[in-house]
Amino acid sequence: MTRIVAMSIEFSSMLFIYGSIIGSFLNVVILRLPRNIDIVRKSSRCPHCKHTLGFFDLIPILSFVVLQGKCRYCHKYISFQYPLIEFITGVWVVFVGWWLHIPAFELSSLYLDAAFLWVLGFIALVIVVIDIKHYIIPDVLTIALLLVVVAYIGAKALGGGVYPTITNPLLLDAIVGYDIKGSSHFLSHIIGGLVGSGFLGGLWLITKGKGMGLGDVKLVGVLGLLVGWHATIESLGLAFILGSVVGVALLITGSKKMKSMVPFGPFLLVAFLFSILT
Ligand SMILES: [Zn+2]
Repeated sequence: MTRIVAMSIEFSSMLFIYGSIIGSFLNVVILRLPRNIDIVRKSSRCPHCKHTLGFFDLIPILSFVVLQGKCRYCHKYISFQYPLIEFITGVWVVFVGWWLHIPAFELSSLYLDAAFLWVLGFIALVIVVIDIKHYIIPDVLTIALLLVVVAYIGAKALGGGVYPTITNPLLLDAIVGYDIKGSSHFLSHIIGGLVGSGFLGGLWLITKGKGMGLGDVKLVGVLGLLVGWHATIESLGLAFILGSVVGVALLITGSKKMKSMVPFGPFLLVAFLFSILT
């Protein structure tokens, strides 16, 4: 028994470390994508003194703690966002592992589901932070999400009647949803995308783009495609409830004025993720 627990802690820690390393890459994407800076080739620099950062400045979470949140060279404070994103990404990778019960150090088709959920979460996190900071959802992220969703649904469909036995039934239920038999579930996915985009697109037209952006319209199309029409309607409802609650809370606490914008993308992503995981 102790051996199993020890194994699981070892495996979880490993997943967390991998996740936090990916998180530090997500930080780069979040910082550079809205500013059109090369994500891969340019080395990381301090945002204040522009000093190139070395290996020991870039260890996820640890560097921030050891340097007490300050740049090693100019000693100015560095945003808490960096370790936070690394931490959230690490927790997400561990959570998906636990949630799907992926076997440690053993090849399993569950890794297909895990990989899908991991990447889904990574892209969602980047969209959430960029939308909160810049009020935009870059098309390249929505397209990346679309490719991941199409690849995953395709892999599931190719599995045909076999896949319920080879993948986690929880996730299968959530994704394939209500039309599990025959080819009709493809239709459910397509209707989901159309319903989502159609509804938000209608709102976008009526409010002349003040209520939400075209980015939201495109994003919900992809999310609807992923979960099918039934879960799309549920998730949209949840997103509006979440949005209203948080919007009112922001008004009461005075963090936002009546006319200021509240991005809708984060509520969409949280609501759809909730419907996939429950
Ligand atoms: Zn500096």
